[in-house]
Amino acid sequence: MEKNPVVIAGGGPVGLVTALSLARKGIDVVLLEGEADIPRDLRAGTFHPPTVEMLDSLGVGARLLEQGIKVPEWQIRDRRNGVVAQFDLGMIGDMTPHPFRLHCEQHKLSRIAYDALAQYPNVRVLFSHRCTGYTQDNEGVTVAVATPSGTEEIRASYLVGTDGARSTVRKEMGVEFEGFTWPERFLVFATPYDLREQGFTGNAYIADPDEWCAIFIQPHEGPPGIWRIAFPTKSEMSEEEILSDEFVQSRIKGFLKPEIDYEIAYRSVYRVHQRVAADFRVKRVLLAGDSAHVNNPLGGMGLNSGIHDAVNLGDKLSAVLAGEQEQDYLDRYVRQRRLTNIEYVQAITIRNKRLLEERDPLVRQERLNEMRDIAADPDKARTYLLNSSMIASVRRAQEIQ
Ligand SMILES: Cc1cc2nc3c(=O)[nH]c(=O)nc-3n(C[C@H](O)[C@H](O)[C@H](O)COP(=O)(O)OP(=O)(O)OC[C@H]3O[C@@H](n4cnc5c(N)ncnc54)[C@H](O)[C@@H]3O)c2cc1C
Repeated sequence: MEKNPVVIAGGGPVGLVTALSLARKGIDVVLLEGEADIPRDLRAGTFHPPTVEMLDSLGVGARLLEQGIKVPEWQIRDRRNGVVAQFDLGMIGDMTPHPFRLHCEQHKLSRIAYDALAQYPNVRVLFSHRCTGYTQDNEGVTVAVATPSGTEEIRASYLVGTDGARSTVRKEMGVEFEGFTWPERFLVFATPYDLREQGFTGNAYIADPDEWCAIFIQPHEGPPGIWRIAFPTKSEMSEEEILSDEFVQSRIKGFLKPEIDYEIAYRSVYRVHQRVAADFRVKRVLLAGDSAHVNNPLGGMGLNSGIHDAVNLGDKLSAVLAGEQEQDYLDRYVRQRRLTNIEYVQAITIRNKRLLEERDPLVRQERLNEMRDIAADPDKARTYLLNSSMIASVRRAQEIQ
């Protein structure tokens, strides 16, 4: 066993779950987080069945289940004509012990994983410690760290970059972040108005050439929860216009009762990308989570695929450190996770966006009819559910040598 710890740069959900996965195998870990505490950002809010299963295997699934809302059914709708297709994950109840989407804010998973790390004396979590670069040789990695008391160096056996989409580690590796950025920004806001009264399931996607949107119920100070809604915006609009009451109310009134003024609990605007790093490994330095891949939120796959990276990498890296495998075993992590991100996560999220935003009325009708047919045919619906629940991508990854 190598004597230096694995250093993980970035204490978001993927970094914390990678730390937990390694800690349980007895590996020494130093986790660096640039912020002073666990970030409470309102981003990912959907956990798919295989992700909850992986969290079960790390001993934290039950705690996440306690804090989330189970959403077994979800809809695809046309803004004008209502429900086009409704899917029920109960249909694949033979494939997973968790046949539902679990809606829960990502910072709750971070907190659960952080609390679980406290029982491992082999893990140190250092807040306000930012990785600023590294050098590596055949024996290890020297990680440069900016701390409140100045710059330090930590000698590591391996460095894992889980430092998000703007990853310093990825930039230092000199690896391209290949892909593109969508021209429109997304407006996300939340309302306590209960959409179930209007026939919505806890998750719904509404097709419209200008005002398509995605809806997710989230836990919020007791039942029935709060409804998070994401809309596209025109690229020429200023952030101030996008976040104005007038614009937010116009979007929500566009598909709900127009006579009500809706309470808006929070609102934000963000850019959306489809990118995958050209490689996830340069010798002893590896990438996982958003530092390795980013995608639009339609289908709720970004964080989920990051957790799938974390667990896969934790298993492989601990086997290499235990001397059970050679170092090039880590390339299998890269092949499995990079390829399935491209084949599934990128392809599915791009297809989801195209379905909702299609401008040509004939093409739109054709695509929505296709969704209707899929939902009505049990075999097709099952295949569709295995893909959208990410079960298929996890199985595919296991087949890649
Ligand atoms: C609006 C929105 C909705 C989304 N919804 C979903 C969803 O429903 N389902 C889903 O699966 N995904 C969703 N995503 C994507 C999801 O939020 C990300 O995939 C997820 O946050 C990635 O986790 P991460 O740990 O890789 O990166 P991050 O969460 O970005 O964490 C990176 C961490 O690294 C720290 N850091 C950065 N640089 C350094 C450094 N140099 N040194 C040390 N620390 C550093 C940061 O402070 C941060 O804590 C959504 C994203 C957005 C924007």
